[in-house]
Amino acid sequence: MQTRIIDGAALARRLRLELRDRAAELTARGRQPGLVAVQVGEDPASKVYVRTKMRASAEIGLYSEHVELAAATTETALLEKIDAFNHDPRIHGILVQLPLPPQISTDKVLRAIAPEKDVDGFHPCNVGLLATGQPRFVPCTPAGVMALLASEEITLEGREAVVIGRSNIVGKPMAMLLLQKGATVTMCHSKTQDLALHTSRADVLVAAVGRPNMVRAEMIKAGAVVIDVGINRLPDGKLAGDVAFESMLGKASHVTPVPGGVGPMTVTMLMANTVRAAELARGSASGSAS
Ligand code: NAD
Repeated sequence: MQTRIIDGAALARRLRLELRDRAAELTARGRQPGLVAVQVGEDPASKVYVRTKMRASAEIGLYSEHVELAAATTETALLEKIDAFNHDPRIHGILVQLPLPPQISTDKVLRAIAPEKDVDGFHPCNVGLLATGQPRFVPCTPAGVMALLASEEITLEGREAVVIGRSNIVGKPMAMLLLQKGATVTMCHSKTQDLALHTSRADVLVAAVGRPNMVRAEMIKAGAVVIDVGINRLPDGKLAGDVAFESMLGKASHVTPVPGGVGPMTVTMLMANTVRAAELARGSASGSAS
């Protein structure tokens, strides 16, 4: 079987052109979409992620702010910052880069972001809207995966989908989105007894674990669509996904590479949610999350 490598970078570029047009239209009407990224501490991976998001914002013409706070910042100080951005009319999207230092409650901070500016889709209000089938802001990584599947015209209705990982930011919303498209969804996680038993039944397999190359060819069904969310830094400095990519070639029908698969789509969906937030703020959005 010829395995199709899904080019997330190419799709991201196409979608960003559309977003640039939508942003320009809003800007021309005096409502340039605005995004603020708040970063607390010096985590090197967080710095890279925020820089990538700021670069994408500039590329599509958003107004953006990058707030860097010291690792010793108190929870109260961070909550005050968020409150100020909640009331700032230039800002339509607020993202707080995770993880936060231990003195700050992530839960409290995510709940403090105004739900209509919660472009990461982590506020319980937006989680609830997604769970009840009326999504406002869908978390960016699973939204990006759905866009990749749609771009390849992969049928989900009636098919077996397996998600490995049950985090609030990837695994759970991913399962919800697949379910809403009519797939029969199985969620696997760290307590799953026989992972391969489940993965080998999947027509669509999404791996979001954080363990390099854990999904190998012998664990998948021939012809499966394999989506690799994992980003793992190897000792030699290279990036690897959760999927043993080379081993999929010839067995999977589709596979995403790392890098160049889900990653660029995550950032693009953040841009899409921010443009949508600005559209919603002026009461002109069309109803879809991107
Ligand atoms: P997380 O650590 O919050 O969750 C990992 C999940 O994996 C947990 O639910 C856990 O139950 C499950 N798990 C752990 N060991 C397992 C095992 N042996 N078998 C089955 N399940 C197991 O991580 P996360 O935030 O969901 O991220 C997962 C991966 O995706 C990480 O590599 C992260 O860097 C990456 N990620 C990538 C993007 C992107 O844009 N591509 C975005 C977010 C996260």
